[in-house]
Amino acid sequence: MNLILLGPPGAGKGTQAQMIMDRYHIPQISTGDILRAAVKEGTSLGKQAKTFMDRGQLVPDEVVIGLIDERLRASDCNAGFILDGFPRTTPQAEALQAIFANIEKSMDHVINLDVDPEELVRRLTGRRTCNNCGGMFHILFHPPQKEGVCDRCGGALCQREDDREETIRTRLKEYEKQTAPLIQYYQNKNLLRSIRGGGGQNQIFEQIIRVVDEKVV
Ligand code: AMP
Repeated sequence: MNLILLGPPGAGKGTQAQMIMDRYHIPQISTGDILRAAVKEGTSLGKQAKTFMDRGQLVPDEVVIGLIDERLRASDCNAGFILDGFPRTTPQAEALQAIFANIEKSMDHVINLDVDPEELVRRLTGRRTCNNCGGMFHILFHPPQKEGVCDRCGGALCQREDDREETIRTRLKEYEKQTAPLIQYYQNKNLLRSIRGGGGQNQIFEQIIRVVDEKVV
């Protein structure tokens, strides 16, 4: 089962991708996570991406397309995968189609998480991630038992550099300009399944399961 999770920053793509991964045993492929790991390691890819990411801008298409092309060929993608945060522009969506044709795969569903823009800023500013295991928390909606400490592994919880309010506004503008047109793009291909991403994470996940298991359109 090959899925794309589409939606603005803060819509809950990462959280839902992890829940889908646990249930269906297919890997989550997050270009944001791959890029953040490269920045942390200080690789040339990381250095190239960092200036864009810190400003809340998109990393150039050719960089992320190359990453995805390589990642989708790995053997753990044989039974399916969840693309989280890719594609984000029309050229990326077109490149993805070409990659699929090359590796003889196709897309099953594009799940669009639809959330009120004002809600997104509230969600993003409260987000905290574990430095050690990547566990995700939220100071309002999913607080850790002990402030600043991961419940899973005891690691330190941090705010992503690009989750500060000014950068968030830029990321939301980038989304509207570059990524939102993909909703229509996938609608035209009859692949789009829109889900209201406003409720609790379990409620949203139930709707995703319904789409995936029952092929509700
Ligand atoms: P995310 O964790 O998905 O919100 O991504 C964080 C940042 O990584 C974005 O604001 C972009 O700078 C960069 N990024 C992630 N995925 C892509 C993509 N598909 N195209 C361009 N830039 C991306």
